[in-house]
Amino acid sequence: MTGIETRLLIDGRFTDSLSGRTFVTESPIDGRGIAVLACAGTEDVDRAAVAARRAFDAGPWRRLMPAERGRVLRRIAEGIRARLDAIAEIETRDGGKTIANSRNEVEAAANVFDYYCGAMDKFFGETIPMGHGVLDFTLREPVGVVAQITPWNFPFLAAAWKVAPALATGCTVILKPASYTPLTALMLGRIAVEAGVPDGVLNVLPGPGAELGEHIGCHPLIDKIAFTGETRTGAGLVRAAAGGIKRVSLELGGKSPNIVFADADVPKAAVAAVKAGFGNAGQSCSARSRVLVERPVHDEFVAAFTRATSRFKVGDPLDPGTDMGPLVSGAQWRNVKAMVEDGSAAGARIVCGGDRPAGLDAGSYFAPTVMIGVRNDMRIAREEVFGPVVVVIPFDGEDEAVGIANDSEYGLNGSIWTRDIGRALRVARDVRTGMISINSHGSASRYGTYAPFGGYRKSGLGRELGMYALSLYTEVKNVFVDLGD
Ligand code: NDP
Repeated sequence: MTGIETRLLIDGRFTDSLSGRTFVTESPIDGRGIAVLACAGTEDVDRAAVAARRAFDAGPWRRLMPAERGRVLRRIAEGIRARLDAIAEIETRDGGKTIANSRNEVEAAANVFDYYCGAMDKFFGETIPMGHGVLDFTLREPVGVVAQITPWNFPFLAAAWKVAPALATGCTVILKPASYTPLTALMLGRIAVEAGVPDGVLNVLPGPGAELGEHIGCHPLIDKIAFTGETRTGAGLVRAAAGGIKRVSLELGGKSPNIVFADADVPKAAVAAVKAGFGNAGQSCSARSRVLVERPVHDEFVAAFTRATSRFKVGDPLDPGTDMGPLVSGAQWRNVKAMVEDGSAAGARIVCGGDRPAGLDAGSYFAPTVMIGVRNDMRIAREEVFGPVVVVIPFDGEDEAVGIANDSEYGLNGSIWTRDIGRALRVARDVRTGMISINSHGSASRYGTYAPFGGYRKSGLGRELGMYALSLYTEVKNVFVDLGD
């Protein structure tokens, strides 16, 4: 593999950690080590924070014309596209996602940089009428030094979602990628340096979140934390950031409902439920992991869903014909298996999957799993499995569907399948999630970067993507002027 970076990016240079500590990133395809990386410690966070602070306070990044920063972002997008194949291959080897998914995500990441390169001269304050003799207006100013912590399920894309809008607004960034999948974030760092991002503006620090998290959360030189990951981890960061009243935005877990009414195109809904539940091996915050089916079509749906699931090809993620690769790690495999066993013990029935697929003895492969006879109060229906496990829950009527959908700590995403437009819009209104799709499992984010992405309740705080993300990285300043007449 070409172009792998293994050292920390601090202040524009690739460097070893101060302690000299390293760690190995392994491939879930065969469990073999891919690379030995420098492992950041708290003292490296301090170095990066000093560099990012200086780069923010002294400039020139935040003082550039928005269009000048935009030109650098455009070059990052071009740099990503020029290395699309290499980044996608590393992403697949490091995290196990299919090569087709990796390629789509790397292209989508380039699109994110394209979007924000033209955004900042269209995002401005307003003039507030206060009467003769007074002028009042607002300015949008970058929030400062931002620490961004990303997960392993969409390593490169999640980094792009965070880094691009932060750089566009003039912030400086410390990016901490997940330890399972640190490689492509470092490649993004290399591309950014080559695109002309000044020293200290983007720093990339692979290292153990459990060790670095609190230090980052409390750090006096850091103004804001942007986090994607588990709800529990996000809550810990909120606590760490509370003392400094730091700005915090969170993209957290989900247990998203996929609601199929009896008047829907049931075969289409059943086929779509496969990608919606098992795409990225179910390791997606938006996975439609609870399928709610109106009772008259329950059996028809389950039969069609199971048939379509059995055609979903699990195997080597580097093979372009594969639909689903391994889970990210052996530890994640054991978590998923334990959740399935818990569901079975509670009375749910496995109609397909439930274990390692036949013939895939090495690597952390788990067969796509459908469980029926599930009640919404079971753990398997309440907790995020973050693996290829979908539960099917029957319901009677619109009110019960909405009730079950909303009976969750989460509120990230969801789907509604019906031919009745009034019902579709009523349910879309009443389900408490940050996103909802009608007759589709697509999120707006699949089609670009234009629409807001984020959740209600324990699914998060704030909205990424679109012009919404620019609010996450800016403060509003009000300027009041007495005109003296
Ligand atoms: P984790 O919360 O375990 O890890 C996410 C990131 O946080 C990693 O970089 C990790 O580092 C770091 N981290 C770990 N412990 C701490 C800590 N104490 N303080 C600060 N940071 C820490 O989540 P996963 O990586 O397991 O990601 C999966 C989760 O992400 C799922 O719950 C999923 O739903 C959610 N997610 C949400 C999305 C959304 O938009 N709402 C999108 C994608 C995922 P390290 O790897 O070193 O442990």
